[in-house]
Amino acid sequence: MIGIFGGTFDPVHYGHIKPALDVKQSLGLEELRFIPCSIPAHRAAPIATAEQRLDMLHAAIDEHENCVLDERELNRQGVSYMVDTLQSLHDELDGKNFCLIIGMDAFLGLNQWHQWRRIFELANCAVTYRPGFELNLAQLPVDLLNEVKLRQVESVEAFVIKQQGAIFFMPVTQLDISATDIRQSVKYEKSIEEFVPPAVNNVIQQQKIYAG
Ligand code: ATP
Repeated sequence: MIGIFGGTFDPVHYGHIKPALDVKQSLGLEELRFIPCSIPAHRAAPIATAEQRLDMLHAAIDEHENCVLDERELNRQGVSYMVDTLQSLHDELDGKNFCLIIGMDAFLGLNQWHQWRRIFELANCAVTYRPGFELNLAQLPVDLLNEVKLRQVESVEAFVIKQQGAIFFMPVTQLDISATDIRQSVKYEKSIEEFVPPAVNNVIQQQKIYAG
C-alpha cells in the first residue's frame, strides 16, 4: 500500500513528518508520497512559492527511505482536488492500493471536499490525531458520521487487508506545531529550530522565506 499525504506544506514541519512516518511504520507502507497542492480548495493560497515549498519538502524528506515528493498537483491546472490526484495515481500505478493520510482537523471537514465520497472508492483513509482536534462522533456532520459507521476498522490488521474504503483513526506522535505559527515566528525573527528539521530551516533562512 502506498501512503498519500497531501497538504500546503507552507512550510513542512515535524508535525507533518513524524505522524506520517509513524503511519508508514505502523502500516508497513511500501512508499510514502508527499503531494504539495497547487491551489488549495479550502484555505488561502500558500505564502511560499511552489518552488520554495518543493525545496523545503526535498530538504525534509530526501533523507527518509521510501519517501517520495510527488509534483502532480503542482503540474495540474486549477484547484487541487484530492479525488483527481487519487484517480491519476490509479491511472499511473495500476493495481496499487492507496492510503490517504489525513490529519483530524482536515478529516472533520472531509464532507466539504470535492466528490468526497468517491475518495472511499479510490483509497483507504488513515486519520491521524492532532493536538486540539478531538474526534467527537456526536459532533460529526451526519453524512460523514454515516460513512464512519460504515467504514471504520479498529485494527491495523483489519485496515491493511482492505483495498479501499476503510477508515482507521490512528494514534501518532502528538506535536502541537502549526505552519501558521512557524511563519509568524520567522517573521518576528524567532527560532523555529524545534519545529522543522535543520535542512528545512536552512532553506527558509537562505531564501528568506516568510521574512517580514
Ligand atoms: P496551518 O498550521 O497553517 O493550518 P497545516 O500544517 O495544518 O497548516 P497543511 O500543510 O495543509 O496545513 O497540512 C497537511 C496535513 O497535515 C493535514 O492533513 C493536517 O491535518 C496535517 N497536520 C498539520 N499539522 C499537523 C500536526 N501538528 N499534527 C498532525 N497533523 C498535522
